[in-house]
Amino acid sequence: MADDDIPFNRNFPLKPGVVEEARPGVRRVLCDNPSPFTFSGTVSYIVGKGKVAIIDPGPDNEAHASALLEAVRGETVTHIVVTHTHRDHSPNTARIKAATGATVYAEGPHRASRPRYESEKHNPESGADREFRPDVQVKSGDIIEGAGWKLEAVPTPGHTANHMAFAWDARKISFVGDHVMGWSTSIVAPPDGSMVDYMASLDRLAGRGEELYFSGHGPEIPDGPRYVRFLIRHRQAREASILHRLAKGAADIPTMVRAIYIGIDPRLMTAAGYSVLAHLEDLVARGMVATDGDPVIGGTYRLV
Ligand SMILES: [Zn+2]
Repeated sequence: MADDDIPFNRNFPLKPGVVEEARPGVRRVLCDNPSPFTFSGTVSYIVGKGKVAIIDPGPDNEAHASALLEAVRGETVTHIVVTHTHRDHSPNTARIKAATGATVYAEGPHRASRPRYESEKHNPESGADREFRPDVQVKSGDIIEGAGWKLEAVPTPGHTANHMAFAWDARKISFVGDHVMGWSTSIVAPPDGSMVDYMASLDRLAGRGEELYFSGHGPEIPDGPRYVRFLIRHRQAREASILHRLAKGAADIPTMVRAIYIGIDPRLMTAAGYSVLAHLEDLVARGMVATDGDPVIGGTYRLV
């Protein structure tokens, strides 16, 4: 099953290091870190004018830090806001903080969505920034306010346990990090990620009033809640595909990936396996699927 049920938009001509005013009071700068996981690279945002916030300073990348600082030359960076602690989003925080003295806001340090099972090895693909510590830990509904802008913290766990979106509700804008992206679905890889949390976070976003979403990668999404409903239906369809495959007999995760992800980029096979695991973990918890021992990447699964 392909992802063609979702109205993706991969038209994003922004070049690395170029400062673009996407909307009044919202500038964006692309980092030069393209990959199958990051699309054209990480997008950092500058919110406000004069006294500004920088959202997601990006990976450990000196050129990108310089581009951001150049973009705000003559202005004051009062806040650094981080959506989540993946290595393509948070490590450059240290550089921007050192240069500006801004206060760093985020949900908290990196953590997994659940404890690691004994049989589980460390997932090297997780790409977590375990060094990151915010100055201020934000929780649901907290307001981060600056000169002419105001962001509300909206918990959106699932892609990571500490993922936060930041809603500028007067402008009907939300900065949604990697929780919702216009170019692709998000990776939900246990134990860092959780499918149950991810689906609940999609529901939470779709129920809010913000319409225009700015993501950590790729173009903005003009009708965010409608797009989120496509994502929800897509995951429900994927779950149905897994159950359909298991109806033919017990299977391991590579077998399910080959049956479900036709024509997938081979570099994304591992990530696809973890997405299937995320669904299986949820199905096991709901008593619909069984496995021997804990639901892990190497397990064999069958219908109950
Ligand atoms: Zn991420």
